[in-house]
Formats: sequence, structure tokens, C-alpha cells
Amino acid sequence: MCSSFREAQVILRFLEDLKNRLGMSYLFVSHDLNVVRLLCQRVLVMYLGKIVEADPVAELFERPRHPYTKALLSAVPAVEKGDRTERIRLLGEPMSPIDPSPNLCRFYSRCPKADAFCQSEMPALRPYTGGAEAACHYPEEYAEPPEEKVRIA
Ligand code: SF4
Repeated sequence: MCSSFREAQVILRFLEDLKNRLGMSYLFVSHDLNVVRLLCQRVLVMYLGKIVEADPVAELFERPRHPYTKALLSAVPAVEKGDRTERIRLLGEPMSPIDPSPNLCRFYSRCPKADAFCQSEMPALRPYTGGAEAACHYPEEYAEPPEEKVRIA
């Protein structure tokens, strides 16, 4: 185990301890979802400057609704051999963050489920059970549709 890993563990434990003892809140920004799972209660997933999913942490890891969230979670290294899932490799290129189209879903150019509808209407964040929210016209197959009309692939 390298010393930088041990140092990171010490810092994370310190942050967790402060949070619990003082009732503090953090805005914690990370690409390491294992650390997010350890430290956070609510998770916002962003893609090109837009929130695409906002869930309580357990809900996010158990039932990701957005295709980008699902791809991110598939890349998290598993601790236990049985926890491994097949890695989702995204094709395509991210669209330019400088001048994104206001009507186009920002994940469109990399999304395996994209169709013409995703090009014509930016998906809004919609509520799901368990306090989850996701912005996708075709949420993942195991996600229940919200009350508003959503297309299911
Ligand atoms: S709205 Fe369409 S392009 Fe955007 S994430 Fe959902 S399925 Fe993919």
C-alpha cells in the first residue's frame, strides 16, 4: 500500500469524523465514486455542466437512471470479485462545451440510446422514487417512469 493512499485514507477519515461530530456539510467534488460512496449522502452527477442525475447515494449505486451514470458506475473498480459489472465503453466524442445547443441533450453524441427526439428536446430533471432525479427521455430499463410522460426504450 503506497503512502499517498494511506494519507488519503487518513484525510477521508478525518473529514468523515468532522462531519459526524460537528454536523457539517461538504460540497465534495470528485471523480472517484468509491470515495463519493463513502463520504456523501446525496450525489449530483454532471455532464458538460448540466446535472443529469441527483440521488441519495444508495439509490444512485443501486438504480442509476441516466445512461451516463450507469457508464460511470460500470468503471468503478470492484473490491469483491462478485461485485464486478461489465464495463460500458462510451463511443463518440463529447460535444463542445463552449457553445452547446440549448435543445440537444448534452450526452447525445456519446449515448447508446440517443435518437432524434433527444436532438430536439433537452431532457429536464424528473423525480423518481427514493428521492432520485434524472434528466433523460429514456431512463434505464429498471427505472420506474415518473408521473410526467417519459419515453421508455
Ligand atoms: S435524453 Fe436521449 S441522448 Fe440524452 S441521455 Fe437520455 S437517451 Fe441519451
